[in-house]
Amino acid sequence: MAVPKKRTSKTRQLKRRSQIFLEPPPLTSCQNCGREILPHRICPFCGYYKGRIIVDFLEKLSKKERKKEKKESEVKNP
Ligand SMILES: [Zn+2]
Repeated sequence: MAVPKKRTSKTRQLKRRSQIFLEPPPLTSCQNCGREILPHRICPFCGYYKGRIIVDFLEKLSKKERKKEKKESEVKNP
């Protein structure tokens, strides 16, 4: 079994661990509703991708919810 020749100093250990951290995901804004989304993915809020409807969330909602969503999106991009 390999055995370390010298012990790792605190400074060296901390320097190494200073590079261990998570980065926030690179977000872009949706072309349709303008909310922040992950790139190359369908917008989870409006179902659009590259300016086309891919998943029609509004169709699945009830009439009342649909009206509310429509109003919200109109407020965001008139
Ligand atoms: Zn969207």
